[in-house]
Amino acid sequence: MSDDILLEARGVTKTFIQGNKPLHVLSNLNMKLERGELSALVGPSGSGKSTLLQILGLLDKPTSGTLRIGGEQAENMNDKARTNLRRHAIGFVYQFHHLLPEFNALENVAMPQIIAGVKKKEAHEKAEGLLSSLGLGARLDHRPAKLSGGERQRVAVARALVLDPPVILADEPTGNLDPETGDRIADLLLEMNRSRGTTLVVVTHSVAMARKLGRSLRIEGGQVHPEAAA
Ligand code: ADP
Ligand code: MG
Repeated sequence: MSDDILLEARGVTKTFIQGNKPLHVLSNLNMKLERGELSALVGPSGSGKSTLLQILGLLDKPTSGTLRIGGEQAENMNDKARTNLRRHAIGFVYQFHHLLPEFNALENVAMPQIIAGVKKKEAHEKAEGLLSSLGLGARLDHRPAKLSGGERQRVAVARALVLDPPVILADEPTGNLDPETGDRIADLLLEMNRSRGTTLVVVTHSVAMARKLGRSLRIEGGQVHPEAAA
């Protein structure tokens, strides 16, 4: 595998058993992401976009198939190694922010670092710098409930970025935001790609977002296919 390939899924299948019937969501799916590549992941509701993102992000396991991330073969790893790889290689941004309600913005962004063993002072300094760069320097001690939707999503982006993961997987990150705020989040993700070379996969129904990303992958029939630029 070339060093430029950061993530590669081969022959990935995911079957859920609902009642006693199998539901084949992904079937023999192949995809490759190069370092620094931008991709929109599009497809109708229920087509398997979130399922695929969870598998690429090591939050769920495929029924069969292989997954390489940063040169490491992930499918046979034990849970500890998987968790470790996920923490260091992948940042997640969800449609609903999933911030911890009891903690303020600064603490929410510091948390992944503290879990990774970074000292509190250092973790707080990095979180503060990142939040300030996202225009949230005056919101550090606000809990999520005291932030607007766009501010929460910026905090969630900061949290996803704080360990400098080579890949960000974003599942409809602007789905709940007004178009202008959504645009800001999109620009923020693109800026991370420009400044840090972060590889981005963004599930989106927004044509504007897909256009900004350039490459669109469509999920259909359990597989992904490149789509002509919008
Ligand atoms: P999308 O994100 O494209 O809207 P999902 O990946 O969430 O689609 O879901 C794809 C299909 O898999 C849907 O039909 C959904 O109901 C089903 N599904 C997702 N997760 C589970 C699960 N844990 N158990 C059973 N079925 C599931
Ligand atoms: Mg989804």
